Amino acid sequence: MSLKISLRDSYIKMLSNECFDVLIIGGGINGSVAAAALSSRGANVAIVDKGDFACLTSQNSSNLVWGGIKYMESFEFPLVRKLCKSRNHLLRSYPSAIKEIRFYTNLDRGFRHSSSALYIAALFYWGIGNFFTRGPRLLSPLQINKEESLINTTNSIGGIEYSDAYLYDNDARFVFNFIDSAIEYNCKAVNYMESLGSKQDKNGEWLTKLRNNRSNEEFDIRSKIIINACGPYVDQQNQLSDQTTEHHHVFSKGIHLIVPRINENERVLTFFADDGRMFFAIPMGGRTMIGTTDTHVSNPVAEVTEQDRQFVLDNINKRLNLPKPITNDDIISERCGVRPLVLKNEKVNLQYEDWTKLSRKHEIDINQKKAHISIYGGKLTDCINIGEEVCDKVERLGVSLPQKNRKWYGEPDQGILSEYLELSRSLNLDKLTHSDSSEILSTRLWRRYGKRAFGLLENIKKDPKMAEPLIEGTDYINCELIEAAEREMIVTLEDFLRRRSKLALVVQHEDLKNSPGLREACKILFDEDAVERWEEYFGGRF
Ligand SMILES: Cc1cc2nc3c(=O)[nH]c(=O)nc-3n(C[C@H](O)[C@H](O)[C@H](O)COP(=O)(O)OP(=O)(O)OC[C@H]3O[C@@H](n4cnc5c(N)ncnc54)[C@H](O)[C@@H]3O)c2cc1C
Repeated sequence: MSLKISLRDSYIKMLSNECFDVLIIGGGINGSVAAAALSSRGANVAIVDKGDFACLTSQNSSNLVWGGIKYMESFEFPLVRKLCKSRNHLLRSYPSAIKEIRFYTNLDRGFRHSSSALYIAALFYWGIGNFFTRGPRLLSPLQINKEESLINTTNSIGGIEYSDAYLYDNDARFVFNFIDSAIEYNCKAVNYMESLGSKQDKNGEWLTKLRNNRSNEEFDIRSKIIINACGPYVDQQNQLSDQTTEHHHVFSKGIHLIVPRINENERVLTFFADDGRMFFAIPMGGRTMIGTTDTHVSNPVAEVTEQDRQFVLDNINKRLNLPKPITNDDIISERCGVRPLVLKNEKVNLQYEDWTKLSRKHEIDINQKKAHISIYGGKLTDCINIGEEVCDKVERLGVSLPQKNRKWYGEPDQGILSEYLELSRSLNLDKLTHSDSSEILSTRLWRRYGKRAFGLLENIKKDPKMAEPLIEGTDYINCELIEAAEREMIVTLEDFLRRRSKLALVVQHEDLKNSPGLREACKILFDEDAVERWEEYFGGRF
């Protein structure tokens, strides 16, 4: 059995051996930052997810780290200020993983605001964000034509360009890196482990029934505090544990389609769709991610319908001058998730109007008597605040955090980066790129692995073959697969293709299926289970 499964198995054994300070249920962005923050500050933490880490909403976002310019229309200035500050903080903390990007916005005749009004709003937005990014520009239709000829300006009244930020890799990888930091501080993190509900014993200790969703084995875990970070399933989980809270969730479905890259410039093309909502074409390496939608749904499990797909295709095709329209045949992959939006319990009968204007802020409900915390809403952009707030609440519940001032997020500091760059220079890796990617290998490794990239370079030093790509048409190299097998708790092939990497999003399914390199990768990831894992993902014979 491979080393990676052993890591998970060893954690599973430890789950039932002790009483944890905190059990976190749900390993999306909210649960993962809570785990990283609490364990780095000295709490004894376990985190479980019923699927893989980030397998639900947190793998289906727009990958944007943004101040929420659109919330200015509903006058939510305090929220915009808070999100802009969070965005700036993330940009400072993750200079290689989170990048500023320009939003190039075209407005068509009949739009509810003029381009000058939007420009003034963008100036204001820039100010609310402490002028941290590059300033906005007002664009004439002629300028748009010249600078981004792809945009259909037949009905244009001009537009604006302003800055926000985006995750250069992908959301699920960003989340996993918090799980990884939590593990470094002794957190027991286990994926495919479902909570079936919790109850308190007479000493006030929580007993949570867990089911290992790979083996169906069930057992109990003990903790002083429970944090419910189940995203769209928070309410359902609270019912299982007999918790009543001040807030609850309602759901809004959003989809994205990933197609071959449509424009050369590294900027987000921004439009207003037929329903009046902002609509983006976001760069994703050699691809473009188009979306999103905002549909009220009652079920946390959602899928892309033909209607969703058509909405996105119609809207993008109308707004671009493409030699031929984008069709279903161009779609490489799709993303679909539900936004868990917070509502106070008394607000139940939402009209459509209220619905689209629902606030996107988060709330953390605390049951002081029962030592129970529920995290509602949230955004990737807001993740550092959530980690900090959870630490405060856990302390209020009586668990002390001895390493109170330890920083639990961010890329390693400049000194460590200089050391890394020096090592990559000495190995002649500071200029190496692979044919399908113009990015320098050592830059990519640093962004993806942080301090762990030192270990990868050491492996390359011992065996230069380790720097060679393994999976055709991708930039994944041999030593990354070994690292993934040992450290990244990959249980299924989807965990690797969809979340630790974004290969399933950017490479055609058939190309992956026919890739001899991926079969080799499976052997590294799963040892003797390689055939089974490959067949589980693709169906058919290995
Ligand atoms: C279309 C779309 C676009 C978005 N775009 C952006 C954006 O650009 N920028 C931004 O900042 N935010 C964006 N968001 C919002 C953001 O993605 C979400 O707010 C965030 O990912 C929610 O994280 P979470 O941890 O609360 O939930 P989730 O990521 O859903 O995590 C909850 C986890 O709990 C687990 N779980 C559930 N029940 C159990 C159980 N019984 N036992 C164990 N585990 C359980 C699930 O498996 C899941 O992994 C977007 C959301 C959507 C849908």
